Amino acid sequence: MEYEVVIGLETHAELSTLTKLFCGCSTKFGVEPNTQVCPVCLGMPGVLPVMNKKAFEYSLKSALALHCEINKFTNFDRKSYYYPDLPKNYQISQNYYNLGVNGYMTIEVNGSTKKIRIHNVHLEEEAGKLIHPEEIGTNYSLVDFNRAGVPLLEIVSYPDMRGVDEVDSYMQTLRKILLYMDVSDCKMQEGSLRFEASISLREKGSDKLGNRVEIKNLNSMKAVIKAIEYEVGRQSKLLDRGETVARETRLWDAVTERSERMRSKEEAQDYRYFPEPDLLPVLIDEKWLHEIKGTIPELPLDRKLRFVEVFKLSDYDSGILTEEKVFADFFEECVKILNRPKAISNWIINDLLREVKDRKLDIHNLPIKPKQLASLIEIIEKGTISSTIAKEVFSEMIQSGKNPHAIIEEKKLAQISDESLIESIIEKVIATNPEAIEDYKKGKKNALSFLMGQVMKETKGKANPKIVNELLKGKVGV
Ligand code: ZN
Ligand code: MN
Repeated sequence: MEYEVVIGLETHAELSTLTKLFCGCSTKFGVEPNTQVCPVCLGMPGVLPVMNKKAFEYSLKSALALHCEINKFTNFDRKSYYYPDLPKNYQISQNYYNLGVNGYMTIEVNGSTKKIRIHNVHLEEEAGKLIHPEEIGTNYSLVDFNRAGVPLLEIVSYPDMRGVDEVDSYMQTLRKILLYMDVSDCKMQEGSLRFEASISLREKGSDKLGNRVEIKNLNSMKAVIKAIEYEVGRQSKLLDRGETVARETRLWDAVTERSERMRSKEEAQDYRYFPEPDLLPVLIDEKWLHEIKGTIPELPLDRKLRFVEVFKLSDYDSGILTEEKVFADFFEECVKILNRPKAISNWIINDLLREVKDRKLDIHNLPIKPKQLASLIEIIEKGTISSTIAKEVFSEMIQSGKNPHAIIEEKKLAQISDESLIESIIEKVIATNPEAIEDYKKGKKNALSFLMGQVMKETKGKANPKIVNELLKGKVGV
């Protein structure tokens, strides 16, 4: 039988506020365990939560960017469950009045776009982190509550994805949107962005959903894709044999590349949701909504399409430039100074990005300013330096942060355009390479490029290639 794969994703993103959702503890990652805790986030009796306004605004901003309808009246609910990393034995989340509902996100797959509907966007608190010592023979686990109470945004999609290409694009697009809006650092390796997938199969052409399986413990986008592929294989085998797929939650093991059953799927009623009595509902008025809307930047896909349209860049280049907001901003700043979008785009994509990667530069603190790149391109266009020398200058700019003019002067890199000087060098090269002249006269055209190369070598690449070419042709008699 032929099956259709139906996939939905649940995304958790830690919001990058300085303090936790209901207390003033720091959210800094990677510090000594249990040093960023207080009675509130440790769930001591009698404490009261106070809402972090910034976290709420970041959530509202995200819900708006995902085209959600906003619940003007929203409140928080207790989701009860017992787990060692959850000191209160309930998580403050949203269930009855999610902040945002019925949204969508546009993704791009193989050159065409598709809307993936968003079921809801809500705000909740993060749990602590369990640490299982790896030494053999240890029979205990440790818990770090630094993470407990960090604001967590949950984004639940409809099961609108039909394959791993769409899932991949969904994850990348969502990550980019959150990064563009500066609401989360989206570091999957630090757990600040996590995905859970629910997967079911159905007979092709059917509109009835099959039993779905939820997969947790997916620590990278690669793991999400692998787990889905594995699950599709597992479920189709079961269905081929006429068996049913159990509704359950499974845990992905990235080492064995298999999933294991964790528990039967819990239902909402298992969590005994009820409105959080210690927090007031939040009422969102038009003015606030308008204010938050004003903080949403142009989103990555829109920006990419605009770059193609306005600057006539290729779809590919435009995609790379808009991958990170920093580079898209850098590009636009450069274009404002010097209207050479194609050249600027090339320098960013081929040179700046390579330097960033090679030198592991902090992209939020680049050693080069848009003005400096623009003036380098201007210098090249004026013919002061060749494009080969320009690469050297650029590398030096990255290292020292100096202006291109200063580097060219200091290192005496300006192009040699003095014809009599070039001519004397050509004569010297011809005199020492008589066989190349012979070859050329016998019709070996590449002898000319050889001679040209010798002249460039003599001048350490600084001779103006156009002048060398012309003079050389004159000398050998073309
Ligand atoms: Zn605290
Ligand atoms: Mn959640």
